[in-house]
Amino acid sequence: PELVHQIAAGEVVQRPASALKELVENSLDAGARRIAVQIGEMADELRVSDDGEGMDPEDARLCFRRHATSKVRTLADLDRIGTLGFRGEALAAISAIADVELLTKTAHAPSGYRVRVVGGALAEEGPAPAPDGTSVWARRLFFNTPARRRFLKSAGAERRACVQIATGLAIARPDVALEVRSKDAEHLATPGSGDARDVMAAVLGVELASQMLALEGERGPFRLRGLVAPSRWSRRSRDHLWIVVNGRWVEDRSIAAAVVRGFEGRLDAGRFPVAVLYLEVDPDLVDVNVHPAKWHVRLRDDRDLFALVAASVERALRSEPP
Ligand code: ADP
Ligand code: MG
Repeated sequence: PELVHQIAAGEVVQRPASALKELVENSLDAGARRIAVQIGEMADELRVSDDGEGMDPEDARLCFRRHATSKVRTLADLDRIGTLGFRGEALAAISAIADVELLTKTAHAPSGYRVRVVGGALAEEGPAPAPDGTSVWARRLFFNTPARRRFLKSAGAERRACVQIATGLAIARPDVALEVRSKDAEHLATPGSGDARDVMAAVLGVELASQMLALEGERGPFRLRGLVAPSRWSRRSRDHLWIVVNGRWVEDRSIAAAVVRGFEGRLDAGRFPVAVLYLEVDPDLVDVNVHPAKWHVRLRDDRDLFALVAASVERALRSEPP
């Protein structure tokens, strides 16, 4: 594996949590209804199994190549991305810095296929028994990039970052059952019922979830649904606000500020909202191609959006006792 390749890999996978994000997004793109994530004790090992469409042997071999993607076929597709991934870099990048075993089977294939790539080099491949779907087992993450490994935090902190990423993705897709475990703990298990309140119950507990207020609104090109917790449930951290745009979990400061605005003085200093917002907007107004890690989207018409979010939150909270 050339150095160039490892440097490029570092942009996509900075830490175990970023590898996990790519793997779970691939499962979602494959139409999975159930996804199981296992995090190794040292957080240098991840296993993501799904019941998605799987790959035939040829795709299983090709998916590790750089720019191998089945999702964008023409330049025009780039403007209307319906999938979470589209660059074809993630598996190449992860397999460049880890020992990766892929086991996959499509529904119509008589048997499954296994491919193992270590540090970017093909190590093994061949038919293997497998259930329908795909499982990717990445071990020894960053084994050949000591510089990057030194930037990692403690195993516990890296594991928590993994859980946080999985949580955001689970919230973005209430219709998918997502489970996250490590050796002796179950960190998350969402039911896949399609109901955001059920996901919130899994993430924040049944009591808080049952008290969240529904919000809804429409303005310009934007449609909004969501749940917001009454102000007495507000937290000391900003990590309990989730924003989902067209099924993609994103970070957006302006939307976060609009949520706070909607609280209109109901929040004490140093306290932040607990809420989840689901925005639907014409994909032409969303630019997901801003950053290689795709954490951010750019939304046009953001004045409409700010007003919509602030007003919807404010309206939902009016039913809260003062
Ligand atoms: P991208 O997601 O940008 O296409 P990736 O490197 O993440 O690039 O994946 C490369 C290709 O491998 C995908 O386009 C897809 O065809 C295939 N693939 C990866 N993970 C899965 C999965 N869990 N199930 C089915 N196909 C997958
Ligand atoms: Mg991908």
